[in-house]
Amino acid sequence: MTEATQRPWYATGIHVQSAAINEDNYVCTAEGDTPETAVANADLIVNAVNSHDALVQALGQATEHVFACVLTDCIPCSKWKGEVGAALEAAE
Ligand SMILES: [Zn+2]
Repeated sequence: MTEATQRPWYATGIHVQSAAINEDNYVCTAEGDTPETAVANADLIVNAVNSHDALVQALGQATEHVFACVLTDCIPCSKWKGEVGAALEAAE
């Protein structure tokens, strides 16, 4: 499988790029209903991409805990058992 552009990514206005300084390294350009929304969308894309690996790792640890939890009355673990597994599968 082809790997995505190496992180971290940076937002400069509506431009999402793979270096802090623009050196022909655009990943994409964000759009939105207004110019301000387009900039906010670029910021959201960058934040989501840059936090992805850490979130997948944390979700993996949460999944391990939930499935290993031996407390019979542990409401969070019984509640999250399906959700964390599905979220991890979607994020990987
Ligand atoms: Zn538990």
